[in-house]
Amino acid sequence: MSYPQYFLEATYLIASILFVLGLRSLSHPDTARRGMIMAAAGMTAAVVGTLFHPDIHNYLYIVIGLIVGSAIGIPMAMVPMTAMPQRTALSHAFGALAASMVGIAEYVIHGANMGGVKSAALGLEVMLGALTTTGSLIAAAKLQEMMRGTPIMFKGQHIFNLLLFLTMAGCYIGWEFNPGMAILFYSMIGCALIFGVMLVLPIGAADMPVVMSLLNSYAGLSSAATGFVLSNNVLIIAGTLDGFSGFILSILMCKAMNRSITNVLFGGFGSVIATDTGAVGGTMREVTLDDVAVQLAYANQVVFVPGYGMATAQAQHAVRELGNLLEERGVAVKYGIHPVAGRMPGHMNVLLAEANVPYSQLYEMEQINPEMPQTDVAVVIGANDVVNPDARDNPKSPIAGMPIIEVDRAKSVIVLKRGKGKGFSGLENPLFFKNVTGMLYGDAKSSLTNLAQAVQKV
Ligand code: NAP
Repeated sequence: MSYPQYFLEATYLIASILFVLGLRSLSHPDTARRGMIMAAAGMTAAVVGTLFHPDIHNYLYIVIGLIVGSAIGIPMAMVPMTAMPQRTALSHAFGALAASMVGIAEYVIHGANMGGVKSAALGLEVMLGALTTTGSLIAAAKLQEMMRGTPIMFKGQHIFNLLLFLTMAGCYIGWEFNPGMAILFYSMIGCALIFGVMLVLPIGAADMPVVMSLLNSYAGLSSAATGFVLSNNVLIIAGTLDGFSGFILSILMCKAMNRSITNVLFGGFGSVIATDTGAVGGTMREVTLDDVAVQLAYANQVVFVPGYGMATAQAQHAVRELGNLLEERGVAVKYGIHPVAGRMPGHMNVLLAEANVPYSQLYEMEQINPEMPQTDVAVVIGANDVVNPDARDNPKSPIAGMPIIEVDRAKSVIVLKRGKGKGFSGLENPLFFKNVTGMLYGDAKSSLTNLAQAVQKV
């Protein structure tokens, strides 16, 4: 091996170790930031190492690519937190497009002279890459509201998709046996591009995080296949980590919503307004700001339960300030985090971390639920489905079995929301009609800011 080759292999080894350690660190909020830095350092090592690849003789196109990539990447990094899901979808689209283009280039260079295993990997790489590219673009467009966010379905859709899938698979297998038939290769790519669109059209915008993590998994597997084609170990390792972590994340999200992956992919959830099967009735009890301030100021323990409304209101700083004031008065303040609160995994953790809420105050659902009976006030901040007691009590509810944060077991519940708006599931929430619950209407950020002022006067 030559010196550049040694250098290349050493950087790939370092990059692979950093990817594994980074992923490991991402599993806890305390170490997540360090995990991101390690993963970024790993990627830098892999890129720098590749620049010394003995096959590179001309740096012109690499420099052009670097400039174009930076010009797109830097503004993309500056989008607000609320636009993060569509930003992530775009990143997947670019990653998958890169993998497909590498595959097409390899085919153009080597044509039918590739070994059987390599051409099998190349076919998979290009196929998964192409469908992930268009699927991710549709996901980004739906999330950015550039197209209808609700599921788009038509008669005979499943049959059409099945035929499309069979044609794509047929082209792949046919090309494997006749690698010289470029028509089969390019038809497979065409089918995959359409299949990506068809896969995402019937999915509602709110289900998109599950689908994106699935597409992320495809993009990872596509990169791993690229690694086989190019005999590049770091791509195989990084792609496999990406592929399987994306898949595991999709499963975890489905579990936390008590949905199956098939229901997410083919259910068209959100296309019809869900019907309530429970007898939700009665009146909601409205409470005043001053009443709530007194309750909070004299409580022993307050648990904040944030949801999607906290994200849309950007109320994370306001809740931290209120929490600090209460702590100064000797109140024990905790935050109960549901795994699918908000619209993407870790949504609440990221927002609260941004507002410098200490990690020691963040409690996962399983940790906070046993504390509820000892909690004087549970403050629900723009959460709805994740605190819906019907999921626990009403077996006929469409969300029956979804684990919830059991705020209704607290001594008092205060719900901050703007009005009678439903949550993602479209279901009515009996929590709001319970005797223990008081409704404080208004935008979550202004309610929390006003509450902080009122608490100071108590
Ligand atoms: P949710 O059920 O969607 O409810 C959000 C509530 O926030 C609404 O009822 C709305 O009521 C209120 N709200 C909106 N803007 C507000 C504002 N500015 N100020 C105050 N309140 C506001 O939210 P969730 O309880 O967090 O549940 C998340 C849902 O998303 C679950 O059904 C979950 O399965 C689904 N989901 C999550 C993920 C994930 O990864 N996290 C992925 C896919 C799906 P008003 O309109 O009356 O204010």
